[in-house]
Amino acid sequence: MKAKPAPGRTAARPVQLSGRITSVRPSPTLAITALARDLRAQGVDVISFGAGEPDFNTPEPIVREAKQALDEGFTQYTAVGGIPELKEGIARKLLRDNGCEYRPDEIIVTVGAKQAFYSVCQVLLDPGSELIIPSPYWVSYSDIVSLAGGIPVLCPLGEENGFDLDPDAIERCVTPATRAVLINSPSNPTGAVYSRASIEAVVQLALRRGLLVITDEIYEKIIYDGAVHVCPAGLGEEARDRTIVINGFSKAYAMMGWRLGYVAAPGPIVTALDTFQGQGTNNPTSFVQRAAVVAIDSEDSVFEPMVREFKKRRDVIVFGLNTIEGVRCTLPQGAFYAFPRVDGLFGKTGPTGKITTSEGLCRYLLEEGRIAAVPGSAFGAEGHLRLSYATSLENIQTGLDRMAEAVARLS
Ligand SMILES: *Cc1c(COP(=O)(O)O)cnc(C)c1O
Repeated sequence: MKAKPAPGRTAARPVQLSGRITSVRPSPTLAITALARDLRAQGVDVISFGAGEPDFNTPEPIVREAKQALDEGFTQYTAVGGIPELKEGIARKLLRDNGCEYRPDEIIVTVGAKQAFYSVCQVLLDPGSELIIPSPYWVSYSDIVSLAGGIPVLCPLGEENGFDLDPDAIERCVTPATRAVLINSPSNPTGAVYSRASIEAVVQLALRRGLLVITDEIYEKIIYDGAVHVCPAGLGEEARDRTIVINGFSKAYAMMGWRLGYVAAPGPIVTALDTFQGQGTNNPTSFVQRAAVVAIDSEDSVFEPMVREFKKRRDVIVFGLNTIEGVRCTLPQGAFYAFPRVDGLFGKTGPTGKITTSEGLCRYLLEEGRIAAVPGSAFGAEGHLRLSYATSLENIQTGLDRMAEAVARLS
């Protein structure tokens, strides 16, 4: 492929954006967070259940290593796919925690788990390729698939089964254009931790139908009540050869702003990802990779206090939500989101009219209750709200009081 010569300068005309970008929706979670921030800037004290990020600081030893790397002048480009020490650390982690063996050349370090999924879609999907996404689903998946020219096929999961993965429903979504099935457990937004049996059945289905399994395990460490996280790649040699593992540092180590994640997959996929990344972001930030080497080998005691705190908050928010009439919330086993049903409130009337959608309810709760939540419609689940409990117990209590009071004012 040759680049075309540049045309001569022409008269000014309006900027024309690509069809690709005009079809993408800005992230609704970021939008509600921004709206809450605007209200706060106007002096309104808003309690936000919007943000999907831990409200903890990155553990000190990780920060210290980044500083030391900077002091040592570790500021050059690294290998595109990450420094060898980190790849080896990730390989150790995958064996230790997930029971799967990867060589360093089957691992690539990325600029966060989101970019990892973006790159995976770019190297796997052709125009018209289908990727099955169990729904409710993380907002970004479908837009990232569309950006790659692929078609997100949403596969509804039943609330009556606690939003567990449903192999039969997934099988019904398979067509000749299906390339892969996505698994996100623990799930954002439902907090469901998929059962071993359902993950095994989906892996069997993938093997039978020649599909890949993409697994986003970013909430692996944030899990409660003895629930067990199952990595599909750990289910045997064949499973491993058809699975693409995506994980990252943002949630378990409260490293959101550092931007670091990784993919473990069969060699040819990782080689393709390396080529793609080489023409996109290039290597993830050098000194962040050094810090991640410390994170990946750290004891569970580094994140356990955070998980304990999340569990306390989960119990308080779920209990509180269930005391509000018209709201029903199941107990999630992972991540840090409550995902109550709220359609019991639809048809009630507030100052600006009847509430008929989760988005309308969110606007009402923000304007009249001064709390920010994300509408379920953003996750393919109208009739629900997502409330992140990655905020202090005090905020949760005040937010619940405000919600109960705002709901009671509906007629
Ligand atoms: C937060 C989140 C991510 C993004 O992780 P980064 O490593 O910060 O890019 C990916 N997947 C899900 C489901 C998330 O909730």
